[in-house]
Amino acid sequence: MLRSVFGFDWKKSNSHWLLLTKFIDARVQNYFSGMEAWEAVLGEKPSQSIKRFVDEGLIGPADLENALSCKYSLPELKNLSKQYGLPVSGKKIDLIKRLLATDPVTMKKSMAGLTILQCLPKGKEMAEEYLKTQNERRNHVEAQVLEYIKQGMYREACLAMGAFEAEQVFPRGLGTNWKNYNPDRDVDLLNLIFKDKPKILSGVTDDNLNILRVGASMMILWGVNSAKKWMPTDLSLNLAFDNDTAARMVLFHARYKSNIAQYKKNYDVVKSVEILTTSDSCDECKKFAGKRYSLNNVPELPHEKCTHKYGCRCIASPVVDIWSQ
Ligand SMILES: [Zn+2]
Repeated sequence: MLRSVFGFDWKKSNSHWLLLTKFIDARVQNYFSGMEAWEAVLGEKPSQSIKRFVDEGLIGPADLENALSCKYSLPELKNLSKQYGLPVSGKKIDLIKRLLATDPVTMKKSMAGLTILQCLPKGKEMAEEYLKTQNERRNHVEAQVLEYIKQGMYREACLAMGAFEAEQVFPRGLGTNWKNYNPDRDVDLLNLIFKDKPKILSGVTDDNLNILRVGASMMILWGVNSAKKWMPTDLSLNLAFDNDTAARMVLFHARYKSNIAQYKKNYDVVKSVEILTTSDSCDECKKFAGKRYSLNNVPELPHEKCTHKYGCRCIASPVVDIWSQ
């Protein structure tokens, strides 16, 4: 797909806005050249989009300090400073300022042949406004999803998240087509999360368990490994591990149950699981290492008595037994 030169309003294109934000900090002009993912979402070569931004006065050549900061890493600047007998303390910009004050000619020369661009004030203002709006949009959808979960509206929660991901220029989850997202599996997981109480959390009150369940649900839906931002900071559970890990244990338990149910549906292929531990598993978990269990007699995971500070990370690996048929 190529964009027609006439009548194209880049301001209606999220991918163009996103590209503009990439120049809030100085960047080499051809940084995006040959990036097919960008060309696909822009509908034109990134260089054409960038040229348009330059023509409209939103992006221009970076000033020397920013250009140097773009070209050199902190270790490289420290090396240069040492060569000049200059101090190596401070941030990149401090080192750059000292180097420029000492040998501006050489520093300028070292940038020859490199075109480094950056948002001009107007472009920067627009780019930052866009990021702010995007951030607000995300917070708004997260709050909505959180509310749905708390009200037990799991399908609505999943669909709201899916619709948000479908809006993104580069959605997360490789190969996930969010426009055709089927929430069934996530809805099942959320149902499991709110149905069961993992034994490893048997000392947790029901109210606190519900907080962990909400956290675990948000972890699943947003594909993140921490639920801190959705749980009260003063939540005190008196466990061997932190609250985030506790929420992960809720999630782990639901996933495990879901997996076992899945294996049972494939009973002709999978009849048992083997417990795999990690090298730093606790002694309690290690007792299970390498043991096999028939699907109708599996131990509970996470292990009830696990004492590891990161919680139980045992895996019930399906044993595919094609020879037994
Ligand atoms: Zn353990």
